[in-house]
Formats: sequence, structure tokens, C-alpha cells
Amino acid sequence: MVEAQGVRKSFGPVEILKGIDLRVEKGSVTCLIGPSGSGKTTFLRCINHLEKVDAGRLSVDGSLVGYAERNGKLYELKEDQTAQARLDAGMVFQRFNLFPHMTVMENILEAPVRVQKRPRAEVLKEAQVLLDRVGLGHRGDSYPQELSGGQQQRIAIARALAMKPKLMLFDEPTSALDPELVGEVLDVMKDLAEEGMTMVVVTHELAFARQVSDQVVFMDQGVVVESGPPEQVLGSPVHERTKSFLSKVL
Ligand code: ATP
Repeated sequence: MVEAQGVRKSFGPVEILKGIDLRVEKGSVTCLIGPSGSGKTTFLRCINHLEKVDAGRLSVDGSLVGYAERNGKLYELKEDQTAQARLDAGMVFQRFNLFPHMTVMENILEAPVRVQKRPRAEVLKEAQVLLDRVGLGHRGDSYPQELSGGQQQRIAIARALAMKPKLMLFDEPTSALDPELVGEVLDVMKDLAEEGMTMVVVTHELAFARQVSDQVVFMDQGVVVESGPPEQVLGSPVHERTKSFLSKVL
């Protein structure tokens, strides 16, 4: 579903991604772990067209991110084509990013109705199913500030799912939450994984990574140092940098 080969990205003179190679299979869960500043968020943002890749190849579901390929030549995507391609992935951020002046239901309906131009009645039905799925079927008329952080994050997940994405990207979805609210969000993510959603998750929740992921990727200083099944990377890491990181966080 996601394929990265030698992906590079700089901000000004500073190279943040120094040749990322990574493969995410359809229906699998990949957890990206690593120290602060290692480029995890930047890589996630590249997958979702929020940052432009400087070099290398990055594709989602067979389509190059940022470029169209015709007769062996690359053409940069135009703004509207990028916006369209961005719909392939649903993204959930550390902060919930719900529209504060809209009810929960309006938050969920906004993009499918306004951007995807789908019939409101149809989306409304689906949105109710999604709300039930994240355990908040009764909160459609609430405003975000009436909900806990965990509830808001579950709504943010429902909102992303309403766009029927091919994959879901999570950027530290639980790190802004009070500890007692983390579990409810991880449970929703576990359910999603069990239903076969392709997921890439930047997280510090190593227990979640161990339990739910098919692949753990350890990044440091803009490269993938080590990747593989969770029991391998978390249980018996090969590289010193991975060992040193894990010894600090476990
Ligand atoms: P964290 O766990 O702290 O979120 P991370 O591994 O996700 O870390 P990134 O957020 O990808 O790391 O950031 C990597 C580096 O890139 C950081 O030093 C950050 O300051 C820098 N960076 C990110 N976005 C920009 C930008 N738009 N302009 C300049 N520098 C940036």
C-alpha cells in the first residue's frame, strides 16, 4: 500500500529524511518509533502530501505521491490533483483538530459532503454507524468542548473514516491525552486494525506496537535503522541505536 525507496526531505539546509526505505502491506499495521526529531512525523506528512519529497520514490496504492508518471517521465501534480490524492489517506493528529463551532455530527459530515460532494442523507447514515463504532453514537449533537480528549480523538478517527480512506495515518494520537483516556483510543485503533484497515502509526505506545502491529520501524536521524515484526525489533533488536532507545523508553 505504501512503498518508499530512498525518500529524502530537507527543510532549508537541514536534511531530515536521509533516504527512507519502507514497505507497508495492504491490511497491515506499521508502527514508527524512534527518538524525537528522527523524522517520523515528516515521513507521515510526506505520505499524505503535506510535505513534498525532494528525492526518491514514494507511492501509495501504486500512485506516486506528488507526481504523475507518463511515458517514463515525471510530472508534478497540480494543486487540485494533490488535494484529490490526499483523500486516499485519513490522518489523525496528536491534537484532535475538530472544528470547535460545529457539532460532532457536523464535523463528520463536513468533508464527505463539501469536498467529496456526497449526498448528505447517505453520509448521515454512515456517520451514525461510525459514531456507534467508536462508542459515541449518542454524542452526535455535542460540541467538541463538551467531550473529553479521548472522546474527541475517537471522533477525529470517525471523521477520518467517513472519507472512506484506503489507509489511516496516526501521528502520536494518544500523546496529548491524560493517561486514563489513552486506552479507549487505542481500543478503537485495535478494532480498526482487526477489521483490516491499513495503518501507519507514529507512537510511543510500545505495548500497543507489540500487540497490534505487523511491523515495527525504528527510525533515527532520518533513516530506518531497523524494521521487522514487533517481537524481533522490540524483543531482540540487532542495532545498538535501537537497543539504546528501547532501554530508555521501556
Ligand atoms: P517527534 O517525536 O518529536 O514528533 P519526529 O521524529 O516526528 O519527532 P519530525 O517532527 O519529523 O520528527 O521532525 C524532524 C525535524 O524536522 C525536527 O528537527 C523539526 O524541527 C524539523 N522540521 C519539521 N518540520 C519542519 C518545517 N516545516 N520546517 C523546518 N523544520 C522542520
